[in-house]
Amino acid sequence: MNIILLGPPGAGKGTQASRLVERRNMVQLSTGDMLRAEKNAGTPLGDRIRAVMDAGELVPDAVVDTLIDKELARLAPDRGVIFDGYPRTLAQAQSLDRLLAAHGRALDGVIELIVDEDALVDRIAGRFSCAVCNTPYHDRYKLPAVPGVCDVCGSTEFKRRADDNEEAVRTRMAEYRAKTAPILPHYEAQGLVRRVDGMAAMDAVSAAIDRVLDAA
Ligand SMILES: [Zn+2]
Repeated sequence: MNIILLGPPGAGKGTQASRLVERRNMVQLSTGDMLRAEKNAGTPLGDRIRAVMDAGELVPDAVVDTLIDKELARLAPDRGVIFDGYPRTLAQAQSLDRLLAAHGRALDGVIELIVDEDALVDRIAGRFSCAVCNTPYHDRYKLPAVPGVCDVCGSTEFKRRADDNEEAVRTRMAEYRAKTAPILPHYEAQGLVRRVDGMAAMDAVSAAIDRVLDAA
């Protein structure tokens, strides 16, 4: 089973992907991780990637294709793959179709986690966490029982990600829409796109994804 998991940052894509990895013995292929690993491996290809990234340029599709090709060659044929953060362009989607076919695989589904933008802003923009033990809190939904004191470790230091504010969340949503817009029609045409409510509770989202995979 090979799938693409789509969803804006904050939709819970990472959590759902790790659950699939655990429950279905799938492998999560993140091109970002693969590029970093190759870069650090000191191979000739890794050195090329480093030069491109250091120059602040985008890694060419051909390089990403090579890495995916290598990963697919390494994987046991019965292990399913979850693609995360890739493809992002129509050209990459077409390459992926070709690479999968070359390894005797095909896509079984493109699962998009649908979110309500205003609700997502509400969920993300109030997040903060304990600076010591990382326990998550929220301005409106989960404040410490004693104001200013972590429930778990008693620390009085908290931290907040600079980009967990409304403007940054809306920018990430817009970027996501711009990135998926070119590839969704490609998969719609193949009848592969399935939409799951990403705003539901985490277990409910997992169950919905399971139903989609079972039906595929
Ligand atoms: Zn704490």
